[in-house]
Amino acid sequence: MKPDDLLRPTPSGLYCPPGDFYIDPVAKVDRALVTHGHADHARPGNRSVMATRETLDIMALRYGEDFAETRQVATFGERVRIGEVDVSFHPAGHVLGSAQIRVAWKGFVIVASGDYKRRRDPTAETFEPVSANVFITEATFALPVFRHPDTGAEIQKLLASMKRFPERAHLVGAYALGKAQRVIREVRIAGYDEPIYIHGALAKLCGYYQDKGIDLGELRPATIEGGRKGDFAGALIVGTPSAFADRWARRFPDPVASFASGWMRVRQRARQRGVELPLILSDHADWDELTQTIADVGPEEVWVTHGREEALVRWCEMSGRRARPLHLVGYEDEAE
Ligand SMILES: [Zn+2]
Repeated sequence: MKPDDLLRPTPSGLYCPPGDFYIDPVAKVDRALVTHGHADHARPGNRSVMATRETLDIMALRYGEDFAETRQVATFGERVRIGEVDVSFHPAGHVLGSAQIRVAWKGFVIVASGDYKRRRDPTAETFEPVSANVFITEATFALPVFRHPDTGAEIQKLLASMKRFPERAHLVGAYALGKAQRVIREVRIAGYDEPIYIHGALAKLCGYYQDKGIDLGELRPATIEGGRKGDFAGALIVGTPSAFADRWARRFPDPVASFASGWMRVRQRARQRGVELPLILSDHADWDELTQTIADVGPEEVWVTHGREEALVRWCEMSGRRARPLHLVGYEDEAE
């Protein structure tokens, strides 16, 4: 049997012939298994969708209740038979509800990890290594230069800046699903208990995280109607990256522009975006996490997708594992 008999790349996404389903399809299909709620992995319009409860809820929040005709809840660790294939979902540590998908057929196992990270995140379930014959890994930060710093130290940079400039508003750009809630939760863990102001585009997802028991503290809408510019002096405001480009951002007093992303490691990117206070905070594995994970999973073969495939493929081959780039199209992680 060839691994491609169980799972193969197609223009619509990863297809499983003996189960007749797709994982994270980029085109509309009959049956989709979805790893997590980011827009490049979870798209509306498939006939049936299987995903964790959280991912299904997030899709309904973002696309409306009719994002699929039927849905099936996947519980972490529970095996379900689809066609001839045993399928199970396992935590990926990327955002709330994010999953790796394990498919097993005739004793052969492939794990599609979607997006993942290994470091502690108080807003996501911790990644669990699942042994497999073939491991499919992302490669967003798959270069040895990418080593994410300690999360707590990055949060301290933000709090220190707020202390140093008490008259300025601190405006943190963070993607709407996962990153924004993680930044807020980490700031709370660090002891900041003033109200945090959020852009309207974050309200539903922050509310959902709160409903799931993730304590984000007091959140207020960052609207100025009826107030004055000075009202936000010293405030912490979290918004989506796109909100920073429009008039919304100009209402705040002498703002310190900050952005929470793994790409903030690249100084030029921070400069291009006019970011004064870059926070290197990623929901993707860095180089050390990627190579550690491959060692933990222990596959005979690694398939590398979305990102810098070549460097990781070469690393696998040098450490004695077969590896190949998948060249799947359509995955541009909104979360970095
Ligand atoms: Zn993602």
